[in-house]
Amino acid sequence: TTQESWRPFNKSRVYMADLESTLHHSLRLELAAHSVIKGESLISLKNYISVLVKYLPGRPIVMNLLKSVNSWLNQTGDEISYEALRELLDNTAQSSDTALPEGVRWVGCQSLQSHLRRYPCGLWTLFHVLTVQAKTSGSTDSQEVLSAMRNYIHNFFGCRNCAEHFENMARESLVEVNTFSSAILWLWSRHNRVNNRLAGDLSEDPDFPKIQWPSPGMCPSCHSVTENGEHRWNNEQVLPFLMSYFSSSSILTDYLE
Ligand code: FAD
Repeated sequence: TTQESWRPFNKSRVYMADLESTLHHSLRLELAAHSVIKGESLISLKNYISVLVKYLPGRPIVMNLLKSVNSWLNQTGDEISYEALRELLDNTAQSSDTALPEGVRWVGCQSLQSHLRRYPCGLWTLFHVLTVQAKTSGSTDSQEVLSAMRNYIHNFFGCRNCAEHFENMARESLVEVNTFSSAILWLWSRHNRVNNRLAGDLSEDPDFPKIQWPSPGMCPSCHSVTENGEHRWNNEQVLPFLMSYFSSSSILTDYLE
């Protein structure tokens, strides 16, 4: 592979190029480690594709591909081969309005260091977008996106150590999520817990320090200080901030193929 050149971007925006790159990595690289997918893993894959079809505010060409994968998965038996899935993903001959762009073009998830950010950054971003979209789409199951994410991570996420940490957090408190708003806030607060644990770690990109996000600069009203001087989040301000930050209309389409 060739050295990619840096793509200038706005650090406080979400990019569709990162979401599509995440799908490429997930569907063409991560899943490829499983030559046969069956049982619990197959159910997880079906639920993952299903929430993408329902809630990803993706480009029509990509959504068409996800829909065709979804209907194929719903017609298959007890197991699939990765090879058969891969053929469907790559079959651009079927029609010109159905495709998942090949390769990655990281933008908001770029790093100058080849082993940092990228896919894990994209996966977080994807799931924040999906929890926000689920709230605005009039669906009824407030745990649908988080359960699909939990099971995808548990069965497929290549960072096994991450998967174990995430499963522990899910086991501890995911049952308490019973509204779409609490699902959005649950993911935000668990992501901050991970940031807190990783601050100063080797996996931290010095250009993108692990902070309790969003910073006071990004959302002043999200933060307050209690009488005894402790930091407090104003969840009633954080929620609208997240809904706007990850909303479909805020996603930038720069650098798409
Ligand atoms: P990321 O943490 O990946 O965040 C991506 C972007 O999301 C940020 O740039 C910012 O714009 C935004 N953001 C940051 N915080 C929040 C928030 N609280 N809410 C909403 N948006 C936010 N790595 C480990 O070393 N150990 C682990 O146990 C581990 N567990 C992980 C579990 C999961 C489910 C995932 C997806 C990743 C995990 N990782 C773990 C990877 C790690 O969390 C980061 O993704 C990685 O280090 C890259 O960091 P980053 O700087 O790109 O920011």
